[in-house]
Amino acid sequence: MNDNKTKISFHGAAGEVTGSRHLLETGGKRLLMDCGMFQGHRSDADAKNRTFRFPPASVDAVLLSHAHVDHCGLLPLLYKKGCAAPLYATPGTAEIAAIMMADSARLQEGDAQFYNKVHAAQHLTIEPMYDEEDAKLAGDHFQHVEYGAPFTPIPGVSATFFNAGHVLGSSITQLDIDTPGGRRRLVYTGDLGREETLLLETPAPPKDVDYLVIESTYGDRNHEPLVDAAGKLADTIRRAWKEGGKIIIPSFALERTQEIVLIIDKLRHDKTVPEIPVYVDSPMAVSLTEIFNKHKEDLCFDTEFLAYAKSDGDPFGFDYVHYLRSKEESQTLNNKSGPMIIISASGMCEGGRILHHLRNNIEKENTTILIVGYQAQGTLGRRLQDGEKKIKIFGLQHDVWARVDTLHSFSSHADKNDLLAFIKTADPKRGTFLVHGDPAARAALSAALVAAGIKNVKCPMMGEEFELN
Ligand SMILES: [Zn+2]
Repeated sequence: MNDNKTKISFHGAAGEVTGSRHLLETGGKRLLMDCGMFQGHRSDADAKNRTFRFPPASVDAVLLSHAHVDHCGLLPLLYKKGCAAPLYATPGTAEIAAIMMADSARLQEGDAQFYNKVHAAQHLTIEPMYDEEDAKLAGDHFQHVEYGAPFTPIPGVSATFFNAGHVLGSSITQLDIDTPGGRRRLVYTGDLGREETLLLETPAPPKDVDYLVIESTYGDRNHEPLVDAAGKLADTIRRAWKEGGKIIIPSFALERTQEIVLIIDKLRHDKTVPEIPVYVDSPMAVSLTEIFNKHKEDLCFDTEFLAYAKSDGDPFGFDYVHYLRSKEESQTLNNKSGPMIIISASGMCEGGRILHHLRNNIEKENTTILIVGYQAQGTLGRRLQDGEKKIKIFGLQHDVWARVDTLHSFSSHADKNDLLAFIKTADPKRGTFLVHGDPAARAALSAALVAAGIKNVKCPMMGEEFELN
């Protein structure tokens, strides 16, 4: 590289949502922002995941915006392949990422075992990209940095994390870079939370920005208001109470589970609903909720939540929510009759304990399956959401007698209006790079920005490099 130039290049989440990896080069040093996993069809994603377009050992510092796998999931491979750089993140992000990376390693090992067994006759095998030891190796490089505390990841760059309002610990990264042309401020949003949130403080747009690198997941859509969710959930609980049924909620372990538990806690606290038993049946969700509880005075939470946590003392219901880790505890739920709420993973019903709860209850009229998150095309969750009446679980056909409802209000991402407002306030002087969005969402946001008079809007492609001057 030419040492006199300051450059940014995009190595993932460029024209797609997953695989965030953005590389800043300045003063002969390399700073990597996020190292996320590409998700999608196995063969496409696998090739992209296993190839780094820069030598991992050449990276001098890594900054992690938050703990979702599409942002941290390739850190174990980066370190396995020779990176030895310090890995900067907020304490919340570091703690959660350690859990997510270990889980990702276990999933890959399980997948590989299964695939190799099924394809043994053809002598086809796959290898996991990394194992739990590699995940631990990456985790050993974490350096905790609090919000608002400047640090120097590489010479000539002062970095500061600010709350991004997306998940616990998530940060907006502000970099003040000494370039040959003078000091330039580059801000990377990571994933940005929405204006209306349940748990987290709304992210504040930064000031005096030269370059903005911003996500565009919902660049073409707006969300439904959040207030509707609590009312709908209360109706569902009252009905299940009357009918003696189970409410089964497929939920992502991080953030969504804690949001649902918090809403239930508030409804019980206000005596809006009866004292229905609640089971969180997912070892990862249990570990993550413990981290939420530990950090419940953290700066990234919003003031309303902090006040509630103070008055209630137990916002995640550790007193009465049954947090289940073991398989045996999970299985006892099969023999218990309702009413009850079971929150379990995976969020799109593609695997995990949720499948057992569905299998045991889907043919009962008094069961409610409550969808609270995005369901991708082709998943079991999506088929249920679309109203299919006959579905297969573990290869066996089931008639769907359960009621299937969706709460549309939940999302941990800024929507189109939020993104536009954020960019207009940040008012980047030299360039705005749109990342982390499907082509249609990103194009819609780009058009809206141009219409609003924002100049130098760029939609970088995979591997594309830009000089910052
Ligand atoms: Zn995220």
